[in-house]
Amino acid sequence: MKIYKLIFWILLGTTNALFSQIKVQQIVSHEEHSETEHAGPTVCLGPAERIAVQERINKAVRDMKNDGLLDRVFPQNQRAMPPLLQWPLRQSDKFNDPGYYAISNYVDLDPTLNNVLDYNGLNQTYDGHNGIDIRVWPYWWKKMDDSHVEVVAAADGIIIFKQDGFNDQSCSFNGNSWNAVFLLHADGSITWYGHLKQNSTTVKDSGDVVTVGEYLGVVGSSGNSTNPHLHLECYDNLGNRVEPFAGPSNPTTANSWWANQLPYYDTGVNKIATHFAAPVTPSCPGIETPNEKDYFLPRDSIFFTASIRHSLTADSARVQAIQPNGVVSTLLNTTYQRTGSFFTRSVQPLWGRKLPNNAMAGKWTFRVTYYSQTYGTSITNHTFWVAQPCTPNLALGGIHNVNNYFQASNSITSNAEINLGVHVVYDAENYTILGGGFIAPTGSKLEIKTTGCN
Ligand SMILES: [Zn+2]
Repeated sequence: MKIYKLIFWILLGTTNALFSQIKVQQIVSHEEHSETEHAGPTVCLGPAERIAVQERINKAVRDMKNDGLLDRVFPQNQRAMPPLLQWPLRQSDKFNDPGYYAISNYVDLDPTLNNVLDYNGLNQTYDGHNGIDIRVWPYWWKKMDDSHVEVVAAADGIIIFKQDGFNDQSCSFNGNSWNAVFLLHADGSITWYGHLKQNSTTVKDSGDVVTVGEYLGVVGSSGNSTNPHLHLECYDNLGNRVEPFAGPSNPTTANSWWANQLPYYDTGVNKIATHFAAPVTPSCPGIETPNEKDYFLPRDSIFFTASIRHSLTADSARVQAIQPNGVVSTLLNTTYQRTGSFFTRSVQPLWGRKLPNNAMAGKWTFRVTYYSQTYGTSITNHTFWVAQPCTPNLALGGIHNVNNYFQASNSITSNAEINLGVHVVYDAENYTILGGGFIAPTGSKLEIKTTGCN
């Protein structure tokens, strides 16, 4: 009996010791973004709707050509060749993330059933796919809700027709109609832009001219779609479907239709961020909650994410938290190397940490240094703050000679002087008063917020 008890206490002690060791080391937790891909019978456009769209395009284009519209709109010297396409997406002017999309699927160039072949001789497509799918990412539903990513004309053109008003919350092959815009270009080639957000399409309509880069709509998930993405489909002036990416397995065009063709593996970092809790992804079509936060207190939990597109296991990322004094913190200083399949369209590793008691107050940097086979080394920085502890009212004076984040649940009054090159944030929930002694010379930075101690 005594021996059993002794063993029990030894075991318990070992477990506790292990547990506290794990806590002390703040072990890395990798939470890979779960993949939601087109699969099985999913197609971006059902057969019946495809026939209807084609008939409508054929008739409208015939009428436009008979009417001489192309001759009137485009000079003769543009009429001989298909235009070089510009990228069909951009961020709305409210956003400036390092990246915001990832190519999901190219055209399936193998006409036989149950076999796929993309332009590069591989399988980044699905059976019978006639276009290019470009997902918006990370947080695709939030991006749609925020109208974050806009679809723009890939070349000068005339709107053949557009359709709008259809539900944009599709999560599966459902036979619904999509919101879409169809453009006719100078030489008679055609581009399709499908799955747009409901009621987002341009005010222009059939017969109106659009210039390259002009707004056509917002990326959504209308029609046969599993998540918000753009379906881009291209045809030459004879009505042949074209895969615009030139490559060894693409018989549809010898030359790229792109002004700047992206690499097949378009590896990069779309966004890095700090969070007070892990991002939440509800079931489709729920809008994601990123739980992002940029200011913390000592002892707060802090989560770091890097949203990586076209991740290859051959690539790697150095992830570091850098203290206000420029020293890399032991809080986060590790290398991310994904395991599993060689290629993933989008992945979001996450690291959970707890800021120590003595975390240095001031402006920190979360830095991701990405080593990619495609693009070489790139560095992405994100600023976060360890703030001064919250008080109701804060009276500041003297000189701010280091970056600092001051927060108050009611007010901040400052007669301080900010030194050159110093960045200071005043965050008082009700009001901030800058007194007569306050000076912020050129070269310093003052931010005033009203979130307070939230
Ligand atoms: Zn598609």
